[in-house]
Amino acid sequence: MRLVLFGPPGVGKGTQGARLANELSIPQLAMGDILRQAVAEGSELGRKAKRYMDAGQLLPDDIVIEVIESRILSPEAQRGFLLDGFPRNVAQAAALDRMLEGHGMRLDRVIFMDAPESVLIRRLSGRLICEACGLVFNRYSSPPRTPGRCDRCGGRLIQREDDREEVIANRLAVYRKQTQPLLEYYGTHPGFHRLDASGGQDEVYATLKTLVVG
Ligand code: AMP
Repeated sequence: MRLVLFGPPGVGKGTQGARLANELSIPQLAMGDILRQAVAEGSELGRKAKRYMDAGQLLPDDIVIEVIESRILSPEAQRGFLLDGFPRNVAQAAALDRMLEGHGMRLDRVIFMDAPESVLIRRLSGRLICEACGLVFNRYSSPPRTPGRCDRCGGRLIQREDDREEVIANRLAVYRKQTQPLLEYYGTHPGFHRLDASGGQDEVYATLKTLVVG
């Protein structure tokens, strides 16, 4: 199974993608996570990525395309993969198609997740992430049992740099301008589905699973 989840920031791609990838036993290739890890490690990629990420801007296409190609061709992705956060514009989608075609592969599903902007803003501004294990909480809808501490590992919960209000507005604007045109690009793909992701986590997951595995 090779699939893409796309949609606005805060729609739940990461959360739902992790659950689905786990259930399908395929890796979740989440571009934002890959880049945040590179920043944390202080690698050359991380140093390049940081200023774009802090501003809520997209990195240049050639950089992210190279990163994703190496992950897609890695042994762990041989049985399939779930892409989340890539592609994020039409040029990236076209590069992905060319890359897959060149290796005799194609996408089985493309899922567009959507929710009203008011829901996205609430999810993004309330999001808390465990510094140690990466588990995601939300101060409104899924708060930790102990304030500021991760339920799973006791790590410290932090807000992502780019989940600050002024950056959120920027990310939503970038989404509308650059990522939304993917709807037209993928609209005629035989595995394309639109998913209303405004409901609760379990409800959204149940629908997602039906769309992907029937
Ligand atoms: P995310 O965790 O998906 O919200 O991504 C966080 C940030 O990483 C984005 O705001 C961009 O700065 C960068 N990023 C993630 N995916 C891409 C991509 N496909 N192309 C360019 N930049 C990306």
